[in-house]
Amino acid sequence: MQFNNHLALCKGCGLCIAICPKKCLQYHQQNKGVYGQNAIDIDLNKCIQCRQCESICPDAAITISLKDQ
Ligand code: SF4
Ligand code: SF4
Repeated sequence: MQFNNHLALCKGCGLCIAICPKKCLQYHQQNKGVYGQNAIDIDLNKCIQCRQCESICPDAAITISLKDQ
């Protein structure tokens, strides 16, 4: 699985963090999004690949590819 947070699109709204059932998303300490705010980071060890974060993101900033599981 590959998790991609497209920094040029992420506005740091936090919707993906809120919806993640495994609480594996958090604000990244260094990577900045479109407004200079902290973007999203993921703990892949906790992710169950439900793709809810991808679905809820209003800016299509998250894409998940399951091909590399
Ligand atoms: S829902 Fe999308 S825009 Fe909002 S913080 Fe998550 S990745 Fe960024
Ligand atoms: S795919 Fe599901 S478990 Fe993984 S980060 Fe997104 S919401 Fe969380």
